[in-house]
Amino acid sequence: MSRAYNFCAGPATLPEAVLQQAREEMLDWRGTGMSVMEMSHRSDEFVQIAETAERDLRELAGISDDYAVLFMQGGASSQFATIPLNLLGEGGSADYVNTGIWSKKAIAEAKRYGNINVVASAEDSGFSSIPDVSAWQTSADASYLHYTPNETIGGLEFDFIPDSGSVPLVADMSSTMLSRPMDFSKFGLIYAGAQKNIGPSGLVVVIIRKDLLGKARRETPTMMNYQVIADNDSMYNTPATYSWYLAGLVFQWMKAQGGVEAMGAINARKAKKLYDFIDTNDFYANPIDPRFRSWMNVPFTLADDALNADFLKGADARGLLNLKGHRSVGGMRASIYNAMPEAGVDALVQYMAEFAKERG
Ligand code: PMP
Repeated sequence: MSRAYNFCAGPATLPEAVLQQAREEMLDWRGTGMSVMEMSHRSDEFVQIAETAERDLRELAGISDDYAVLFMQGGASSQFATIPLNLLGEGGSADYVNTGIWSKKAIAEAKRYGNINVVASAEDSGFSSIPDVSAWQTSADASYLHYTPNETIGGLEFDFIPDSGSVPLVADMSSTMLSRPMDFSKFGLIYAGAQKNIGPSGLVVVIIRKDLLGKARRETPTMMNYQVIADNDSMYNTPATYSWYLAGLVFQWMKAQGGVEAMGAINARKAKKLYDFIDTNDFYANPIDPRFRSWMNVPFTLADDALNADFLKGADARGLLNLKGHRSVGGMRASIYNAMPEAGVDALVQYMAEFAKERG
């Protein structure tokens, strides 16, 4: 059986070379007589796997020693609570920017722990554009400023890093992490659920400036305390070892592709191809302000919703899978993360053109 082009938003397609390597190493990892899944997390072998993954991630993303890199569990959603518990302090307040569904979830959870100010919202534009920074009602004494650089469902992406002054900038990079070069030194904390550009779901990578460690509130569960996780090299409890290993394989694959610079160039090309096609074909539409269109998640609608089911059926038949839009917004969505080959985007565009011609 040949592999399909899987446009799922997450868990998402992984590089075929990574899956091949994982298969080859499955039963006997480098002469140990066992799979990585069966190894003690305290073994020399696994510690080596874990350290290599962290080193490669630091190298890829350009993360300095001022930051701790944590491999945590519970997905990106668990961070919605973990962040305020660690950074808000007793009676503190934090600023949040609302650009869509994932921002809203982060805001709703943070509100359980303190005074949360929504300093800007894309709601007025129907979440189709980033609110003008000059109108953000940020506060200089906020514990942090949180935003979502890429809204996976809406397909709305920042093309800049907000300047938060001396307030630590916190970003949910789940669906944009490692998609292009980014200056991580501008952030206090970033987090990313792994199941898009990094590896299997459940794992969440947290990169935190070390001066922000040690500020957790007293009631913070031990497993959610960044200081504890950092002090224990992300092995306070049994980590998600196999996911960590697989993330490491993805990082090695990315390095072999030429790192984030090369990925960024390919991703820009893939996104441009798809948006250019949508813009020049009356049958399809994407509602996002062109400046803020996501490179990773491309939502689009057909001229007639009654054709959605046929469109998806035809796509499936060609091995173009998971194009159905999120249930909250409808339409279609093509997620084109790092591991989606350019040929996948070409095949999608070709199918879209043919479908429009036949049914439009
Ligand atoms: N934030 C963003 C931007 C996401 O895209 C997602 C998942 N699609 C999440 C958070 C939640 O991630 P998880 O399912 O790993 O909790």
